[in-house]
Parts: sequence; C-alpha cells; structure tokens
Amino acid sequence: MSDGGPPSISWPAGYRAALCVSIDVDGHYGETNARTPDAFWIHQTAYDPTGTERLLGLLADVDVTGSFCWVGRVAEERPDLVRRAIAEGHEVACHSWDHHAYNGLSRDEQRTDVARTRETLTRITGVVPTGHKSPGWRYDDHTFPVLQELGFAWAMDEPGGDLPYATSPDPTRPPLVQLPPSWLYDDYPFFVDRLLTPQQAYEFWREDLDQLRAEGKLMCLTLHPFVAGRPGPSRAVARLLDYAVDAGDVWIARADAIAGWWREQNGQS
Ligand SMILES: [Zn+2]
Repeated sequence: MSDGGPPSISWPAGYRAALCVSIDVDGHYGETNARTPDAFWIHQTAYDPTGTERLLGLLADVDVTGSFCWVGRVAEERPDLVRRAIAEGHEVACHSWDHHAYNGLSRDEQRTDVARTRETLTRITGVVPTGHKSPGWRYDDHTFPVLQELGFAWAMDEPGGDLPYATSPDPTRPPLVQLPPSWLYDDYPFFVDRLLTPQQAYEFWREDLDQLRAEGKLMCLTLHPFVAGRPGPSRAVARLLDYAVDAGDVWIARADAIAGWWREQNGQS
C-alpha cells in the first residue's frame, strides 16, 4: 500500500532517531472479541484502568508524552481517564468503537465505526483525534481510503519499514502518514504470549532502539494497560524511556507530532 518512492526524513535538530510511545486502551473488548468464552482471561482485562493510571504516572515521571489509542466504548466507560490523558499533554487517537477487526467489516461499516469513535472522543476531550490504529492491526484495502476520506493525518497499522511514509489511495487528498508499528515492539508477545522478564523485554527493545539510532529511524512502541501497566512490565517501559532520555539523541514524540514533522519535511503541510 505504500507509495511515493523511498521514504526520507531528517529528525528535528539534535536528534538522530525517534520514539513514539503508543498505548492501546482496549478495556475488555480486545480480549472479548479474541478469546470468548474464556471468562478467566477476559476478566484479566479488568486491570485496564489501574494499568492506564500507572502508565500515565510513569510517563509523567520521565516527562514524556505519548499517544493513547482509545476504544470508543472504553472511553465512554471511563471518560475521566481520557480527560486526564489530555490534561497531561498526551494525544488521544481512535482505536475503533469496540475492537472488532476491521478486515471483517465492509467499507461503510468501517467508516461508521471510525467516525463514531472520533465523535465520542471529541465529545469527551474537546479535541478532534487525528490518528487511528486498527484493532489487532486487522485492516484491509478499505481502511486507509476511509481514513484519508475522513481527513485523518496518521495511521499506525502497516509495518512497511522503520520510517514514516505516505499512504495515499486517493492522490487528490492529503496523504495519510503511516507510522509503522511492529509486533516486536508490542508488550503482548513478551508478557502474554511468552512470560518473559522485564529485563528481557527491556534488553530486546534497547537493542532495537540502538540499531535504529545508528540508522536514524523510528520506533513505535505499542503498550496495553492490562499488560505493560502491570508492575513488573511497567519497569521494562520505564527503563527503556530512561535509556532513551539519557541517550539525548532520541526524539520522543507523540504520533501526531511525528506525522506533522514528516509532512513538513515532504512539503505536505
Ligand atoms: Zn487493541
């Protein structure tokens, strides 16, 4: 789906790489849709609000702002947490209405789902979201045209490299900036699929970050409050952020800022 030739970017002065902390607030909907009828596992997600509060505190401790991708129904259930994220300088983006995979929805259904989520988050925060992440990264050929049509600035869906790039199904509209995520920068395979230690996760992510610093590229972390918001896993995140801050050459930024920077650099602002 990528187009426009090889990606190019030089990061803001003084930085040689970028790091985006994105946090997917799924509530129970992600696990409900994936694991029903496993009630035991679904109930583990009742930890989501506690984990959200811990991650907000952790980001404040290191003075880092990130991008919270909120499921619409979860935002309605705990609007106080959504407002707190905004008040503390974070971005709030769309992560679908109830975490149903977009590749199982028609184009019209996807458009309705994204628009409803954006309206709900706007009503709660007073700020219009400009970014989207598809549930479980299950997007299809309709997803990016719908996002472009609705005027979204960025998506974090397609892992097509280590730099932002344009996805422009409709060349007459402003491009959708794709911020590539990775299954390897997601807390879920480390702490759910495999019960690795925080030390192992930290070392894995730090090695990747060092390689990306050497290459001048971008790392997009994907965290879940009921996973990385648990005490031990949160230490892996805290250590990585401490490391990135101490390195001094990593631009730790919200997704909308990175997408905006890409547009500026590519004459699309
Ligand atoms: Zn999710």
